[in-house]
Amino acid sequence: MDDSTTKPFGVVIEMRITTGLIFAGAVSLCAATVAWSQTPAWSQTPAPKGAQNTAPVPARASGPQVACNGNPDALGVARVVQIDTTGGPGFGFEHFKQLDFLRDKEVVLTFDDGPWPGTTPAVLKALADQCTTGIFFSIGKHATYHPEILRNVAAAGHTIGGHTWSHANLNNKKLSTEQRKDEVEKGFSAVKWALEAEPSPFFRFPALQHPPELVTYLGERNIAMFSCDVDSFDFKARKPEQVVDNIFKKLDKVGKGIILMHDFQKRTAEALPEVLRRLKAGGYKVVQMKAKAPVQTLAQYDEELKKDTKLPTVSTRPVNSVVQTISE
Ligand SMILES: [Zn+2]
Repeated sequence: MDDSTTKPFGVVIEMRITTGLIFAGAVSLCAATVAWSQTPAWSQTPAPKGAQNTAPVPARASGPQVACNGNPDALGVARVVQIDTTGGPGFGFEHFKQLDFLRDKEVVLTFDDGPWPGTTPAVLKALADQCTTGIFFSIGKHATYHPEILRNVAAAGHTIGGHTWSHANLNNKKLSTEQRKDEVEKGFSAVKWALEAEPSPFFRFPALQHPPELVTYLGERNIAMFSCDVDSFDFKARKPEQVVDNIFKKLDKVGKGIILMHDFQKRTAEALPEVLRRLKAGGYKVVQMKAKAPVQTLAQYDEELKKDTKLPTVSTRPVNSVVQTISE
């Protein structure tokens, strides 16, 4: 069922990658087609607080011929698209078929359920080794357990969205409408608490369960919803090879799309270097998705979170635990 058919949708604005800087496209409501270079344009510079999704990102590479970490064949980032989330656009053909912005052979990498020790840092390392990027849909509780890991995700320049507070299935009939909204809102507030900045208004429903009332609600909240085109089924995989096989069996058939993985899963962390290598070898290109504006969390949930979880205040956190270099 396509819950998004009656919803207005946002506008995808392309951004151009040049030899060292990513420039926001003209502030316009029409998508502008521009050329892009194949230069991996990437940065580990922490983004300015509260502006990580809109500020130009200084790239580490200084010219078109500069390799990524000495690797001239790195996957890199082919282009960056900026999403106007007004009205709650939906992405991923498994549930949302209105917005087909990816060109042939283009993929968006997405990672759910983190941040988590061991696996999330391994995923970050694999992405950094290829100078490429993804969207991380964080569980609110996990963000409060491991804020420093989530901050490393942000510092590496990746896009961060929400995936509920406790990974509740929002189609569960035992939950009231209010409880479902709580899951969404408290999840975003927890990610904001961990980042000390608003995350992107990007959301993925746990288990891809899309109750229509919540689809409507997210639309009213101007939050984009992400299903997928290619499910890695990594949570079922016993070996990393199965993750790779699952992805390419589907991807080679459909030719492009949003790939669903989990930075929470050990098999994914193990498989990702090979997934990225195969993407490059297969001629696939990674597209980075950024939000035009950050999510506006609701004050009552920000406050409730502070009271409920007895989280440490920001000032009690050791500075050197907040940002770490994951690769040089
Ligand atoms: Zn999940």
